[in-house]
Amino acid sequence: MRIPNIIGLARRLIWFAIVAFALLVLFAWLKPGREDMPWTPLSLSEPIGMSTGRKIVALTDDRDQCLALLEGSGLDFTPSEPFGADQCRVEDAVRASSGQPLLPLAPASVAPSCPMAIGLLIWQAQVVQPQAQEILGSRVSRIETFGSYSCRRMYGRSEGAWSEHSTADALDVSGFVLEDGRRISVLNDWFGGDDKALFLKRVRDGACELFSTTLSPDYNAAHADHFHFDLANRGAMGWSACR
Ligand SMILES: [Zn+2]
Repeated sequence: MRIPNIIGLARRLIWFAIVAFALLVLFAWLKPGREDMPWTPLSLSEPIGMSTGRKIVALTDDRDQCLALLEGSGLDFTPSEPFGADQCRVEDAVRASSGQPLLPLAPASVAPSCPMAIGLLIWQAQVVQPQAQEILGSRVSRIETFGSYSCRRMYGRSEGAWSEHSTADALDVSGFVLEDGRRISVLNDWFGGDDKALFLKRVRDGACELFSTTLSPDYNAAHADHFHFDLANRGAMGWSACR
């Protein structure tokens, strides 16, 4: 009477071994890095991983941790005084000093939220500069923007959800200037089919790994002249928009 139990146990052990082996193969194949793990603190220098975007969004609820991370990045910046009211209250905006190379935003007055600045720092160091070097043979000296803070609802409507721009957790990027003086514009070069177009597509794709929402001219005519990046919080398993 005990034989069937032993067979059942053996079967279960074999299944367990098969599943464990499959997980081991999967783990070895994926080679997860530190930024793939959701429980490690965000690192600006580790390669971008599956959890990087969610860790950046989590910083929107932790001003002190975000500012500490920004201090540690070596970026020369100034925290802004809190401003705005209600839905448009901003307490964590920062302004990167002009002339410093880590986050060369233009105009110099643009002041995104601290978590946005963190995402942009990673984007410029791990995506923008390597792609510019590889495709265009020059570094980027300026990232041109249409600004960050704007107290308004989505699509400029009079009702509905508030835009991430209303808390400075968004940035509109319109183009890039290279160290050799060349200019790359989203409006003029996106559909060009040349190296500038390839560069724009690569930096858009890289932004998709970091921001909750990344919109380009591929999305609609309203984005024909800029990329929109934001940190909308869509929860732990939240989706991200990449168009
Ligand atoms: Zn925008």
